[in-house]
Amino acid sequence: MRIQDRFFPQSQRVPAFASTPDAHWNSWIWQQQKRIKTIHDLRSLMPITDEEAAIIEASADHFHWAMTPYYASLIEPNNPQCPIRLQAIPSQPELTVHDYEMHDPLAEETHMPTPGLTHRYPDRVLLYSTHNCPVYCRHCTRKRKVANPATAHTNEDLKKAFTYIADHPEVRDVLISGGDPLSNSDGRLHFILSHLRAIPHIEIIRLCTRNIVTLPQRITPELCQMLQKFGPIYVNTHFNHPRECTREAFDAAALLMDIGHCVVSNQMVLLKGINDNAEIVKSLNQKLLLMRIRPYYILQCDMVSGLSHFRTSLQTGIDIIDALRGHTSGLAVPHYVVDLPGGGGKISLVPQYTVEKTDKKWTFRNYAHRHFTYIDSL
Ligand SMILES: *Cc1c(COP(=O)(O)O)cnc(C)c1O
Ligand code: SF4
Repeated sequence: MRIQDRFFPQSQRVPAFASTPDAHWNSWIWQQQKRIKTIHDLRSLMPITDEEAAIIEASADHFHWAMTPYYASLIEPNNPQCPIRLQAIPSQPELTVHDYEMHDPLAEETHMPTPGLTHRYPDRVLLYSTHNCPVYCRHCTRKRKVANPATAHTNEDLKKAFTYIADHPEVRDVLISGGDPLSNSDGRLHFILSHLRAIPHIEIIRLCTRNIVTLPQRITPELCQMLQKFGPIYVNTHFNHPRECTREAFDAAALLMDIGHCVVSNQMVLLKGINDNAEIVKSLNQKLLLMRIRPYYILQCDMVSGLSHFRTSLQTGIDIIDALRGHTSGLAVPHYVVDLPGGGGKISLVPQYTVEKTDKKWTFRNYAHRHFTYIDSL
């Protein structure tokens, strides 16, 4: 029996979409057109109280909400704490803003040499290619601009970014981000990829997309054939919970790897009440490995306005790494990183394994809390 048949059964559609023909359901255009973005649409899928409806409408003024029928079908309709629901449907605490929170904690806008391009690290840049996403994740770090048409960049802005990159030979790695870059048409992606590949010092291109999770239908053989021409392409995706590891997601990732020749890895955001638990993260990462997706980062939730209900303590993240390292395949152990407010960049936090250090003698504790000594060389 194939791995996908054994571990990734087809997801179940909610009754509202039970009679939708497969040809529609499997079309990303249909999924985009039928996005759920009104209370009326939402009520056809699950019970929503008047109080919840008022909150959803109030929060939409700050950050739009929308989700694909596919992603909505992963929600357990009668569970207000469903991890998919919490990521996609606005809730009351979003409206609470603390004074230490910021709109742009990573200072992305101030590290922009040209519109839509952030150059923070020595050898890589981040290119903002669209403000659209199939689902507006409630925990989005860029909610200050994502979903806002005023932040869309023109092809002229993109050309300025290409010129900047071409003038900076130290840049060897370009992250295409957004929004979700797969919200661009294949034609616009071709425009971006072909310009980047024409720059001789560009080595790798990264495509940062959540479509595998929120709109796997978008990953078509045609798209992948195009990506193949511009490799090596590293796809960074964003699974946060094992419920998102469906057959559709499995198939989308396989197309990216087998036809697109992409390398796919995952950046999970640590979210309170969704995945702030070692068993959930272990189960997610083991499922990702079955999909050939390598867990790359666990990202600490940024200090963005209205996200305090999602933020865990830093110790929670460290404890999760501690519960993974040694306990399961090293391949399932990502780096736990904090993106420092003010534009300091990412740092990784690890559990304290050193128990004692005297002269050349280092004593460590292992994953099972047994002590071992290593004598260091001079
Ligand atoms: C995260 C990030 C990168 C990529 O960082 P890696 O650690 O190489 O994955 C690049 N630029 C910006 C602005 C980033 O936030
Ligand atoms: S897909 Fe990414 S950019 Fe889009 S809303 Fe979600 S987290 Fe934000």
